[in-house]
Parts: sequence; C-alpha cells; structure tokens
Amino acid sequence: MQTQAGEPSFRQSVDLMFNRAAALMDLPPGLAEKIRVCNATYIVRFGVRLRGEIRTFTGYRSVHSEHMEPVKGGIRYALAVNQDEVEALAALMTYKCALVEAPFGGSKGGLCIDPREYSEEELEKITRRFAYELIKRDLINPAQNVPAPDMGTGPREMAIIADQYARMHTTDINARACVTGKPIHAGGIQGRVEATGRGVQYALREFFRYPEDAAKAGLSGTLEGKRVVVQGLGNVGYHAALFLSTEDGCKITHVIEHDGAVVNENGLDIAALRDWIVAHGGVKDCPLGTYHAEGARLLEAECDILIPAAMEGVINLHNAAAIKAPLIIEAANGPVTAGADEILRNKGTVIIPDLYANAGGVTVSYFEWVKNLSHIRFGRMQRRQEESRHQLLVDELERISRDSSINWTLSPGFKEKYLRGAGELELVRSGLDDTMRAAYQSMRQVWWERDGVHDLRTAGFLVSIGRVAKAYQAKGI
Ligand code: GLU
Repeated sequence: MQTQAGEPSFRQSVDLMFNRAAALMDLPPGLAEKIRVCNATYIVRFGVRLRGEIRTFTGYRSVHSEHMEPVKGGIRYALAVNQDEVEALAALMTYKCALVEAPFGGSKGGLCIDPREYSEEELEKITRRFAYELIKRDLINPAQNVPAPDMGTGPREMAIIADQYARMHTTDINARACVTGKPIHAGGIQGRVEATGRGVQYALREFFRYPEDAAKAGLSGTLEGKRVVVQGLGNVGYHAALFLSTEDGCKITHVIEHDGAVVNENGLDIAALRDWIVAHGGVKDCPLGTYHAEGARLLEAECDILIPAAMEGVINLHNAAAIKAPLIIEAANGPVTAGADEILRNKGTVIIPDLYANAGGVTVSYFEWVKNLSHIRFGRMQRRQEESRHQLLVDELERISRDSSINWTLSPGFKEKYLRGAGELELVRSGLDDTMRAAYQSMRQVWWERDGVHDLRTAGFLVSIGRVAKAYQAKGI
C-alpha cells in the first residue's frame, strides 16, 4: 500500500474519520468498535490459461458490515488493489448505504489487474473465473452479496458476472439481482451508467439551495458561472462535468487526467474532451485548452469547486495546505486523507464528503436490484394511465376555453410536457434526486444543530453510524 510519509493507510484514514464522529455519540460499550471493524475479507488466487501460459490473479471480496443483507459494493480492476484498500472501500459502502437509506450492508471487491493489458475476450475469461470463485462461496448472491461496477469495470463485466451466476444457479428466478450496473438488455436499469455523476450534480444543486451553507464556503448564488476543477474524466467525473456544464451553467476550467491537465478559463467542452481522450489515450496536445504536464499541481488551481473524481489519497498532507478551492465535493471514494481533512477543515474549506457525494451509484443500483426482484420495469403499469388522466384534464380545460367567452390558450409546449407520463428514466432520476436531497438534509441538520460538529463529513458519519447502530441493536447484538 502506498502512503505518504506520516500519512495513515486508506483504511486507517476512514477509521480516523469514523472515530471522530463516534466520539461524539453515546453508543453502548463496544458497539462503535463492532461497527468500525471489517467483518471478513476473502482473498482468492486463481489461474487462467492465457497466451499459452497459466496466469495467476489475486482477487478480494471484503464484507464490512452485515447489519443489513445483501451487502453491496463495486468490484474494482486496478493494479493498486490491495486488502487495505478493499476494506476501506467496503467500510465506506456501509456508511454510504446507511446515509442514503439503501437497505444494504457494505462490501467491496477488487482484482489486481491492469484491464488495459487484456483483450475483451481475455477479460471475459478472467471475469468469469473470478466470478465463479466468488459465486461458489456465496460472495455473489442476490440475497447476500451484490456487486456493481467500480474503477476499471463497467456494464460488460457485470453482464458476464450475471451470466456466470445464472449458469451456476439455473433455477434461481432472481438470478439477475445478483449484480447491478448491468446493460439494459441484461436486466439493467435506465440511468445507472451516469448515476454517480448525476448524484454529484444533485448534491451540488441541493447544497446551493441553502445560501447559509454556501456562505460557509464563501460562495453565493447558484451553480451558474461557478468555476470548476475536475480531476479524472472517467465515468463519474465525465458525467458530473458534462451535466454541470451543459445543464447548470458551470465552467469546467481545468480537467486533470493521468498524463497532465487541460485548462480553458472560458470553460471546456466536456463531450469533445472526452472524445479526444478516448481517441488519444490522454489530454496531451488536446486543442480544446492549454496543456500542462504537471496535472496534479492543478488541484491547487483557483476555482470555486474542486471535484476529485479519480481515486483515493490525491489530496493529502503534501498538498492540502495549497488547495485554494473553498468547496470540494468528493466524487471519488477517499480522495482526501484524514490528515488533509484536518488541514482543510482548519482552513475553512467546505467538503461534501464521499459517503454522500458519490452515493448516486449505489442508489440507482438499489433501484435496479428492486426492478430485478419485481421482474417488471418501473412505470410499465402506470405510465399510460397517468397520461390518460392528464389528457382528461387538458380536454376539459380546452372545452371550458371553447365554451366560455374568455379566449385563453395553454402555453406552447405545456400540453406535450404535461401529457407525457413518466418512464423508467424519469422515475430513476426522480428517485435519485429525492434520495440525494433527503440525505443532504439529514446531514446538514446535524452540521448546523449538533454541538461539536463543524463539518459535513462528521455530520454524515454521525447519521450513518446512528442508523447502523440502531440496526445492530434491533438484532440484539
Ligand atoms: N462502486 C460504486 C460505489 O463505490 C457503486 C456501488 C454499487 O452500486 O453497489 O459506490
């Protein structure tokens, strides 16, 4: 595990944040420790015949808390995957699910692999074998443990996992609910791919609905015109940046990638930038802005909002004091270390923490799991009925207008918009928006009202730990 000098490991960092909140609570003796520790981590080494030889891979599935089952959390493919990281991420899943009231315990998986080194066919072979190892131990199971995408994985890997589970459980009618983040044709749900980025957007909108919260970061107004620095234009960073720039009027002035950064003070065209990255493998020489080779330095750029959307530990003891953004929203898991968190808190930087900010993914995963278990698409029963009720009203208004002496008409576009019943995507967005608003409100209430709480992270942990503690107490543990 790579840690800076004087910096705790990722798991220790999450534990330190947990401890700060737990110290403010009046939990029964021993309960805080029971909640904090990771229940179990399974490590598997398996061989796959590739390119004329047998290659051995190391994979993990960590279960942090089973106060609710199934447990939930993504599977990451990256060379840096290790036990400490998987356990930290599993713990964050527990707190995240509790905060957004997704009825799951926390889990996470990882495979030590650079997915870019393998062809699609090879990745399928590796994924099937890894899935097989986890499925046969019930570490993938619709009632016990439900993975999802994370760094380095996506809908394709989830479809393979679902198929592998179905092959091994041919009579399980709920087989598709064994994993979320699947493609639509394999039992997925509309809006899952962009869900985490969409959640970041909804989180920021909710934050700016409270002028007194924005004022804590020295900001005012709405998202319109805010200058934003984004680190990482992967699935989460891309969607967050795209929605914020095209729907909320933010200016994405800096995008930091693995090979440097591209800067345009007038705001970058995010869709075009993503196309460039896909075509060229990085931001170098990108004509959409000025290229800077030392990307990470630009985390320190002047801006209104900083969105670390890449990986853990990027804001640490080394650079925290130099960060100028008054507001940081953690789209990645664990981008700010415990030490950096303290430095930033003391500086007055407001941090919208990961356990809330990136919970959009697991929220829509919850909807997908429910859809799979109910075996019906959201909106299928009510959509046309809703439309015909709306039609009745519009017809009646038009009749009144015709029959009365006052000649009024509906505004242009109203009829079309009002008549359209909600389909799956509209319902998913509505459910996600509602979830992000409710979770923010529970967190901000603690932030404003509870003695000794001066930051949103501690507030978020307090809400989550309180809910997990209640679940344990109800179980008699
Ligand atoms: N990997 C995502 C996360 O870190 C999604 C987890 C899920 O949908 O279960 O939140």
